[in-house]
Amino acid sequence: MAASSEPFIPVAAPIIGEREIAYVTDAVRSGWVSSIGPYIDRFEEAFASYIGVKNAVAVSNGTVALHLALHAMGVGPGDEVIVPDLTFAATAHTILQTGATPVFADVEAASWCLDLAAVERAMTARTRAIVPVHLFGFPTDVPALSAVARPRGIRVLEDAAEAHGATVGGVKAGALGDIGSFSFYGNKLMTTGEGGMLTTDDDALARRCRFLKDHGMSPERRYFHTELAFNYRMTNLQAALGLAQLEQLETFIAKKRQIMGWYREALAGVPGLTWNPEASGVRNVYWMISVVLGDEIGPTRDEVGARLKARGIDSRPFFVPMSAMPHLSGARTVGAVGEGCPVSARLSARGLNLPSGCGLGSEDVARVAAALIEALSP
Ligand SMILES: *Cc1c(COP(=O)(O)O)cnc(C)c1O
Repeated sequence: MAASSEPFIPVAAPIIGEREIAYVTDAVRSGWVSSIGPYIDRFEEAFASYIGVKNAVAVSNGTVALHLALHAMGVGPGDEVIVPDLTFAATAHTILQTGATPVFADVEAASWCLDLAAVERAMTARTRAIVPVHLFGFPTDVPALSAVARPRGIRVLEDAAEAHGATVGGVKAGALGDIGSFSFYGNKLMTTGEGGMLTTDDDALARRCRFLKDHGMSPERRYFHTELAFNYRMTNLQAALGLAQLEQLETFIAKKRQIMGWYREALAGVPGLTWNPEASGVRNVYWMISVVLGDEIGPTRDEVGARLKARGIDSRPFFVPMSAMPHLSGARTVGAVGEGCPVSARLSARGLNLPSGCGLGSEDVARVAAALIEALSP
């Protein structure tokens, strides 16, 4: 069969079913289309309960969730915030938006997440917060990070945008640090179209986030605003979609794990492929099925991606390191032993995200695997 006659396989696509249609329809019919309504309360309560924290605060997207958390914790000009060099730009941009300075720490070869040794070397008297990123669904060892951060009064904000339902020692991402930040963009593990959430056990911090996301209006006196703030609210319509998705999140995660199993099995004998990290006591939720190409593989990562594309299969390169961005190139970069972030650079150059959507069947994965084997040949 000619490759072109086969359907295109995207990297990700949301699963939207009857439950989503029913909840969103109900929300539209109710007339509660803005940021007040029963689905907002239900979604926040259900999400807090799922993550295992006292408070969940819904916001308009995962980027403003990060900004709101940093701002609410008092991060600002003169402060430094340590963040992995290998992440999506929003993690670094929101630090800059507060006026603070991002410091890029290298990631570990084994976990693709923040290297504790690099973090310890990056800390200064000005370090105010650390933002671990649970890259592609694998949770950072936040307990180890908190053990060095807490005694110094440094706050830990988890960027859990890619890790809904991931766990370390049975504790969910978003409940591991001082506050957790989630995204519900259309390609994430669950979606609200656009949307985000903050999770925390700190009642005072949650209250402050609620106040700041709604124009800083006094809870006692309407139209009385006591400080500069934002409109970062989520709508009841988005929350209706989100609640329906949350009720199926464990099914989505089980499917991701099954898809990962199919890939590993189909490509088990192929040398030079490193798959998503695994660790005992940790649940990886495989937001992306990721593969890092070893040095023995001839074609470049971009060549492999182009060959897959020619066969109707989409893929994505790993993120570009933050320190490689023109507007961030002056930032300090810290590795586990010296300056610079060599592990981040190598993963970024050789990493490829394969089709990972929950709609994939075993036959789709078999097709991707066969195409990948061809694409890897010199
Ligand atoms: C998706 C993502 C974000 C941003 O979320 P949006 O909802 O798209 O604003 C932040 N950090 C990471 C690591 C992400 O993957």
